[in-house]
Amino acid sequence: MKIAVPVPFLDLKIQHQAIQEELLSAISKVIESQIFILGPFVEKIERRLAAYCGTDFAIGLSSGTDALLVSLTALGVGPRDEVITTAYSFFATAGAIARLHAKPVFVDIDRATYNLNPNGIEKAITPATKAILVVHLFGQCAEMNPILKVAEQARIPVIEDAAQAVGAEYQGGRRAGSMGTIGCLSFFPTKNLSAMGDGGMVVTNDPKLAEKVRMLRVHGAKTKGEHLLIGGNFRLDALQAAILDVKLNYLDNWIRERGEIARSYRELFEKANLDQKGIIFPEERYSEQGLSHPHTYHQFVIRVPRRDDLKNFLKEKGIETAIYYPLPIHLQPCFAFLGYRRGGFPESERAAQESLALPIYPGLGRIQQEAIMEAIAEFYPS
Ligand SMILES: *Cc1c(COP(=O)(O)O)cnc(C)c1O
Repeated sequence: MKIAVPVPFLDLKIQHQAIQEELLSAISKVIESQIFILGPFVEKIERRLAAYCGTDFAIGLSSGTDALLVSLTALGVGPRDEVITTAYSFFATAGAIARLHAKPVFVDIDRATYNLNPNGIEKAITPATKAILVVHLFGQCAEMNPILKVAEQARIPVIEDAAQAVGAEYQGGRRAGSMGTIGCLSFFPTKNLSAMGDGGMVVTNDPKLAEKVRMLRVHGAKTKGEHLLIGGNFRLDALQAAILDVKLNYLDNWIRERGEIARSYRELFEKANLDQKGIIFPEERYSEQGLSHPHTYHQFVIRVPRRDDLKNFLKEKGIETAIYYPLPIHLQPCFAFLGYRRGGFPESERAAQESLALPIYPGLGRIQQEAIMEAIAEFYPS
């Protein structure tokens, strides 16, 4: 008889135990300094992440959602403006647009990568288009060259939602967040580079935008008491900055390990001939030589027949999986006023029905992966 191997969807304990002492020492330093708001800890992680992403500036913010909101605000997006974005992402992407009373204009995704299909952008551009908000979903960059080309021709800025893709490389070794006008990172605890709470960052090469974002995070003030813009409290905590400063040292190794787990999944699936059962593995689009992280595998998302049944079957065996995303954004109840209908973006709707994210995180064992593969093979008998 086989012993069931429980597999949580994400286990952060493994990551944190290995660096616990370093984390505690970093936290102690912040406590000793009594500098909790901005200051040297935030400045240090800003410098390091700007260098890591390959941009001139980085500004620490309170979350990835706020990074999107502040980026759109800094670009002047407001009522009656339109922002082109993907119908298939975490809600925050479109939510940030709508919160500024601008209109999200959705474009469908590429079936193989789940990323925005560049072919849909040109048709979506109108005189009201103020920006294109691209998402690098699941840890792989969207097709930036054609997107940047269309944007350049139309003179529209490009915002990159790189919340899931810190460190991901595109052709030429350019990193997520550094290719467009402004890039947004998230340090939500489940992300590849994570805080112990909420956190986010904006990266950009544009000094004027950087200055604006810096002001917007402190209620639009440049010097104390004088408010040039209407901003908010959008600051990254010093404690989170100190934690990120420790974790950034390990990020490249963690991303590499995610890549190894992905390779091992492919190997196991091929051995079990699961591709013949209608299961589709994630595509690695950028195989150019010399890229260290063509895909950072924030999620390992497969497509499967009878998805919900499989998910329940695995759950009964103690294997947790997740659905990103069960409902595309254009069909969210709160966006009914935009007038989109089912059938509007077939690839996004199809992905919402077929996609299933398998556990992937540093420390996930080969035995656990084998258990997952065996359970899936058992669900689809030959
Ligand atoms: C996580 C995420 C966000 C939001 O980040 P938070 O830090 O949770 O606010 C935005 N967009 C995408 C694609 C994300 O995955």
